[in-house]
Amino acid sequence: MKPSHLDALADVIRVTDSGAIPERAALRAILDAPEDLDAPLFEAAGRALDRSSGRAVYLRGIVEFCNACRKDCLYCGVRRGNTRVARYAIPFDEIVEALEEGYRVGLRSFLLQSGEALGDAHLALVERVLRWMKARWGDSVRPVLSIGELPRETFRQLREAGGGRYLLRIETSDPELYARLHPQDAHHRFEARVQALHDLRDTGWQVGTGVLIGVPWQTPDHLAGDLLFMRRFDIDMCGMGPYIEHHDTPLWEAREQVPDVATRVRWTLRMIALQRLLLPDTNVSATTALQTIHPQGLELGLGAGANVFMPNLTPWKYRESYDLYEGKVRVADSLDSVLERMSARCAALGRPVALGDPGDPVRFRTRQPPP
Ligand code: SF4
Repeated sequence: MKPSHLDALADVIRVTDSGAIPERAALRAILDAPEDLDAPLFEAAGRALDRSSGRAVYLRGIVEFCNACRKDCLYCGVRRGNTRVARYAIPFDEIVEALEEGYRVGLRSFLLQSGEALGDAHLALVERVLRWMKARWGDSVRPVLSIGELPRETFRQLREAGGGRYLLRIETSDPELYARLHPQDAHHRFEARVQALHDLRDTGWQVGTGVLIGVPWQTPDHLAGDLLFMRRFDIDMCGMGPYIEHHDTPLWEAREQVPDVATRVRWTLRMIALQRLLLPDTNVSATTALQTIHPQGLELGLGAGANVFMPNLTPWKYRESYDLYEGKVRVADSLDSVLERMSARCAALGRPVALGDPGDPVRFRTRQPPP
């Protein structure tokens, strides 16, 4: 008789092929299954990718332009309460210099990332950079923001200034687990995070979200719920990475509850593959966290169904102050040689790197025409 986890996989493939939503129990069984499930799962995700988004790998150059944050997420190394971090905000001229360098090597999608800072100067800087990109490169470049929960009107304003995509991770779709990972105050409400995702969709952004994988107290059932949350929200992009402990955070105290590295990697890869099956035409990242926790994280992520990775364009002198987690990979090398090496690693998997292409998720393009 076939083991039940292979039955669960066959069931999920059949259901997702028809465009329907699988049962939570089947997703949970796959996440919790023994190793022999990985090969057929990743093959199915690869077929779904071939049929929808294609084999190309898209690059998103990231500039971590400010590490100030008003929040205190219990897992994050740049949380407001961590006084050991040197705070910085990169001036406009240095940001655009980093973007120009990315453009020179063929990047056409740029992620501006910061902590959640609501000050006028911060938002004015973001708007200025967006307007500069629009004037400089028009529609050939897709600006991406990841700067936290903002008022709906600010989302609208930044969209009008030229913003195209927005990444706002839900981190976990389970309100109780969310409450254990965040302080209990007005700045960290699960409902506000969900509302912000709706506001982004309503104001015309390509919307990305994602979750932390392997946090204390998390189970395969929570992760199955996360997949269903993202499917029902009908996201355009997904960035999910393994949780990596940081000793200057409150969650460090719960480190005994963290699954071992092998489990975190396995769950992450299975989440990527299942996300690919549930929403085949979305963009899914092989995240820096996955590449940090495993030396072959890029290859493993792409092999499980990811189609995006993010070269770091942040000027070197700021990088060590953007440690969301410990051991974050930093490659002290020119952008040209980083790209050359990464492209060779992708090519070895039969996955060409798409330079000169902003790589809009097919899901968004088919839902509504690009602006
Ligand atoms: S996870 Fe984001 S919002 Fe939370 S403390 Fe870190 S930078 Fe701020």
